[in-house]
Amino acid sequence: MRVGIGTDVHPIEMGRECRLLGLSWPDEDGCAGHSDGDVAAHALCDALLSAAGLGDLGSVFGTDDPHWAGATGPDLLAETARLLATAGWRAGNAAVQVIANSPKIGPRRAEAQDVLSAVLGAPVSVSATTTDGLGLTGRGEGRAAVATALVIPA
Ligand code: MG
Repeated sequence: MRVGIGTDVHPIEMGRECRLLGLSWPDEDGCAGHSDGDVAAHALCDALLSAAGLGDLGSVFGTDDPHWAGATGPDLLAETARLLATAGWRAGNAAVQVIANSPKIGPRRAEAQDVLSAVLGAPVSVSATTTDGLGLTGRGEGRAAVATALVIPA
């Protein structure tokens, strides 16, 4: 078994659709980015790739590869799971923590866990915290996420 870690940060972009944890959040401004700006899904992908020793999101998907422009978090997570399988691994479980002032994750935690777990094919735990007004997330300039993953031989 192997563990991995992933982190992601994106700036908030006023008026952009908010995609986070594989869900759409209609009342929130989204995050800027080449794809849908889903920091939680991106951190999960990085953690899984890290655990399997397959590099990271930037090296695998390419931050300026037009093929992945507009890709959703679940799109990238599904492709990450496929790459893991090709390399002889499968996810045991993963956990992701969103660090942001908004949205409020608690009321939709179960929904997010269901979506991400279904895409990955393994349990994904979702949690969230704020930074008490400190830093770029505390000032509402961006959102961050940290993830861990365990992979096991397929
Ligand atoms: Mg990202």
